Amino acid sequence: MSYLSKKTVEDLQVAGKRVLVRCDFNVPLKNGVITDENRIVAALPTIRYLINNGAKVILCSHLGKPKGEPKPELSLAPVAVRLSEKLGKDVVFAADDTVVGDNAKAAVAAMKDGDVVLLQNTRYRVEETKNGEAFSRELGSLCDLFVNDAFGAAHRAHCSTVGVASFVEESANGYLMAKEVQYLGSAVNDPARPFVTILGGAKVADKLNVIENLLNKADTLIIGGGMAYTFLAAKGYGVGASLLDSEKIDYCREMLARAEEKGVKILLPVDCVIAKSFPDPIDTDIAVDVVASNAIPNDMMGLDIGPATAELFATEVKNAKTVVWNGPMGVFENPTLAKGTIAVAKALAETDAITIIGGGDSAAAVNTLGFGDKMSHISTGGGASLEFLEGKELPGIAAMSDK
Ligand code: ATP
Repeated sequence: MSYLSKKTVEDLQVAGKRVLVRCDFNVPLKNGVITDENRIVAALPTIRYLINNGAKVILCSHLGKPKGEPKPELSLAPVAVRLSEKLGKDVVFAADDTVVGDNAKAAVAAMKDGDVVLLQNTRYRVEETKNGEAFSRELGSLCDLFVNDAFGAAHRAHCSTVGVASFVEESANGYLMAKEVQYLGSAVNDPARPFVTILGGAKVADKLNVIENLLNKADTLIIGGGMAYTFLAAKGYGVGASLLDSEKIDYCREMLARAEEKGVKILLPVDCVIAKSFPDPIDTDIAVDVVASNAIPNDMMGLDIGPATAELFATEVKNAKTVVWNGPMGVFENPTLAKGTIAVAKALAETDAITIIGGGDSAAAVNTLGFGDKMSHISTGGGASLEFLEGKELPGIAAMSDK
């Protein structure tokens, strides 16, 4: 499937039509207050386009994991309020525990062109995550057209991302979806070179398929974070008490050999920040040392890349034309162990290359450090962007109408 063969919102005749838009309003909440509105802001272009073109705009999303039952603390009510402020117009919130209930039906029946209604959390319904037909049909009964703009949920075949598309006249990708696909797709399939990818995070096992797929695409693969130690072990280094996936050492050895065959450069840490034990609580003061990555003492563990590694990685980034980054370089939740992640974030912020952050922890790190606006693209989907980098087809996009 080519993602570019799918309809986008501009391919639909939306005037006067009821258009259901699946957004990703899965925002962090603290005591009912939205603490990061990025996902709401990212959804605005599609919503504004539909309002300006005379559609009746019905929005839906999941929030958190209510596991198929109403949970008041996971109501989308606060999103309706914030969205209304952002749009400068009323957003009617249809507070049905069944999502498509009497409130939703009445609100939709009363809509005029350009009006906006937000439905309740789709995961209040147990069928949602099972892509059950009855709920898909109910969602479809509210609308004529469907637009999927929830990149963060595009790797899931749920009623509100995939099922509903079978019960509408036509469906299409929204602007956010198209933007994500454009950046991630051109980075992976047609990158300006040198193309450098940086992988970090805790476990090799989580990113096996990403490593394999990127070995076919990238010029350089940089590996940091907890997953680096299994690669260092594959090179025959002792890694002490560092995070190690002993079942994946052979796999890492094979990847190192394959990279050499293909002429792909793999950069691993040359030095590490080590400590006696994992910080507990995670942000507590911690005594650390820096050693070469082949000299980690038996009773110590590597918890961040060292300064020489940070410089090595930063130089590679400086010479790149495209950089994709997923996963922190160390235990960045601890200020003493965040330096490697900060150094990489800074290198990305300073380069002229196209820089793409693959959601999740790395996106949070970049935003917290204030480098957000220096990146070409920060994906709104952690899991979805990883599956995209693995080369997998995303069901939420595949289900849209062809052009
Ligand atoms: P992203 O969210 O950007 O996709 P990720 O969530 O996939 O990244 P995870 O695999 O969840 O990344 O790993 C992130 C966690 O890895 C962080 O909580 C961090 O503390 C931890 N981590 C990083 N380096 C190490 C290390 N050397 N030892 C142990 N844990 C580490």
